[in-house]
Amino acid sequence: MAIIISWILFGVAAAIAASNKGRDGFRWFFLGVLFGPFGLLFALLLKPLAEPAPAGARTNAGRKCPFCAETIKAEAKLCRFCGRDLPPNPAIATAAASDAAESAAIKTKVNKWERRWRRMLGH
Ligand SMILES: [Zn+2]
Repeated sequence: MAIIISWILFGVAAAIAASNKGRDGFRWFFLGVLFGPFGLLFALLLKPLAEPAPAGARTNAGRKCPFCAETIKAEAKLCRFCGRDLPPNPAIATAAASDAAESAAIKTKVNKWERRWRRMLGH
């Protein structure tokens, strides 16, 4: 019994590892159950489908003040060199929008999984 449970855990771990890399988690769940630790190992060795942008890199970069051309922080609303008000940074607005899109995509993925499980369980 313990072996069955640990095999299912390998399936779940493989599914999580695969879906973190943009793969089909459901398929990898079965591969993990079938191959146990080997399935998990393969899922961990999978190459990510899309290279995720390193967190922080997109907002931590400096930008140029349009008035005095000094390099200031991307989040700055006021230039520390010339003291002028700055227009909102378009890079930050884009980052916020892509975060929203990302969480919407995760929600869709969760819903898909839930429907699949319900179908499997006969609900
Ligand atoms: Zn300035």
